[in-house]
Amino acid sequence: MKRTSIATLLVISCSGVYAADKQNLIDPTLTEVWEPIPAEVNSRPVPSDAIVLFDGNSLSHWQHKKDVPAKWSINGNYMTVKPKTGAITTKDNFCDIQLHVEFKTPAVIEGKNGQQSGNSGIFLQERYEVQVLNSYKNRTYSNGQAGSIYKQTPPLVNASLPPETWQTYDIIYKAPLFSADGNVKSKANVTVLHNGVLIQNHTEIQGGTTYRGEATYAKAHGCAPIVLQDHNDEVSYRNIWVRKI
Ligand code: MG
Repeated sequence: MKRTSIATLLVISCSGVYAADKQNLIDPTLTEVWEPIPAEVNSRPVPSDAIVLFDGNSLSHWQHKKDVPAKWSINGNYMTVKPKTGAITTKDNFCDIQLHVEFKTPAVIEGKNGQQSGNSGIFLQERYEVQVLNSYKNRTYSNGQAGSIYKQTPPLVNASLPPETWQTYDIIYKAPLFSADGNVKSKANVTVLHNGVLIQNHTEIQGGTTYRGEATYAKAHGCAPIVLQDHNDEVSYRNIWVRKI
């Protein structure tokens, strides 16, 4: 029994050596890929191929709707929702993107909690909301807290920092595709890092954000603006940039 085991071991070890020898005969350059050459991108202070949507100075990339300039206030290097002026939307349209956004929710106001505490949101292609909310010790429904795909998918974890603290979202978004008859061919998906922590991992988006009922892809659409929500709370934003993928 013992002798058989040693013989078996010998065969295995010999064939291992043989396989390694054979591997060594393969020209390593056969698996080198030289083209295309990745374009050089300088990553500081923002990626050199990014479109800066807000640099702290001007709302020139934003409007309430066509030909209605954005009325949100600029304070120092950030902008703040001016409640009841409405959402602001980029003048440009986007499809697949990498998006960086920094935000802070305002100080907690006595009696305002749940969805009433620091609510705003980032709508991808005007339709699909990544929730912005104060979710630091502020319980609400899980698929409505910060970093949720609103009313669809809760974040994997709660990476929220306290109100009045700057936080980041890094969003990688793949737009939905529609067939010629208008039906959805592939749903949108999104990956989100909240303060550097993965909270949405290639999450499939089930349709346009809706407060009541199930989300659906009601209508085919093309590239569309990024929208920041006015939900009556003085949420602030700064350092917003986007890269088209
Ligand atoms: Mg919201």
